[in-house]
Amino acid sequence: MRVDVLGVAFDNITMDEAVDKALELLEQDGPHLVVTPNPEIVQRANKDPEFAGILANADLVIPDGVGVIYAAKILGRPLRARVPGIDFAAALMTRAAQTGKRLFLLGAAPGVAEQAAVNLRASYPGLVVCGTHDGYFKEDGPVADAIREARADIVFVCLGAPKQEKWIAANGGAAGAKLYIGLGGAMDVFAGKVERAPEKFQKLGLEWLYRLMKEPSRIGRMSKLPLFLVSAAGARIRGK
Ligand code: UDP
Repeated sequence: MRVDVLGVAFDNITMDEAVDKALELLEQDGPHLVVTPNPEIVQRANKDPEFAGILANADLVIPDGVGVIYAAKILGRPLRARVPGIDFAAALMTRAAQTGKRLFLLGAAPGVAEQAAVNLRASYPGLVVCGTHDGYFKEDGPVADAIREARADIVFVCLGAPKQEKWIAANGGAAGAKLYIGLGGAMDVFAGKVERAPEKFQKLGLEWLYRLMKEPSRIGRMSKLPLFLVSAAGARIRGK
């Protein structure tokens, strides 16, 4: 069952359930789409009907940000768990390494996906990273061809939202993989270019605060967060 949070319907699932569902999708004909919306993405979807349609048709909609969890609570329909996209990706790579599924890494600046591949192969022994491509290409066709030729099962698409979801919707079929996951800035983390918040921050749901401390220029993007919660309160009061 999905839970509506200000226009985006989230799967009400735990991390283990999300990974099981992804493994199920890998056994069915694709392409399947997994999205990991945070409040910024929900706000974006409200202004972009094409993007909202793609999210509504995704096979798995994972509540990535703590803001989504707070908003769901304020709306009176709490979600069972926060499932950070990057942790979901990590859990999926563990399973992919055990089952021989092939992973393609798409996105970020030139060289970053290659470095991520080196790091991930070391972190997940047995993981087959079957190809990489940077996220600054002009034509979609050759990128879809590269994924198809690599015979990828899973593709991590890290182009930022909504570009990555739109790319998957338009090219997922041609690229031939079963499962596509939109993971935003995760490639930079996998490559060790961007540090993830220490566990203490993660546990307290304060990853956003750590990111803000490291990159104060994100304040403009993040200042929309309180508004998101105010919208949730408004919707609750109006009985939506
Ligand atoms: N990016 C890309 N191609 C583009 C635009 C962005 O590959 O045309 C990459 C960018 O280098 C970064 C990621 O997409 O690695 C977006 O990161 P951001 O933190 O903005 O995404 P979020 O997680 O907030 O959606």
